[in-house]
Amino acid sequence: MKKFLGAFAAGVKAMADGPTPDRFEVAGRPVRCPHCGGEHFLEGRAQLNTAGLTFLNLDWANRSAATLACVGCGRLEWFLADPEERA
Ligand SMILES: [Zn+2]
Repeated sequence: MKKFLGAFAAGVKAMADGPTPDRFEVAGRPVRCPHCGGEHFLEGRAQLNTAGLTFLNLDWANRSAATLACVGCGRLEWFLADPEERA
């Protein structure tokens, strides 16, 4: 399991702005992993294609989404809003 998470974190790290896990908040609320309750995530970005956005009626949104990968269990959270780093 540790090996898997290490490989996963390395993969996420490659697309993240910063390599170290941080705590985040979105819409004024702390982001907490719904699976393991962890509060430390690696931030990344994922491109959303235009066809997908149109299908989802999300043309108003940015064409990329923020991804937060839980370092505790590997769960991936997606946000269209930019998560804020918490001190
Ligand atoms: Zn988790």
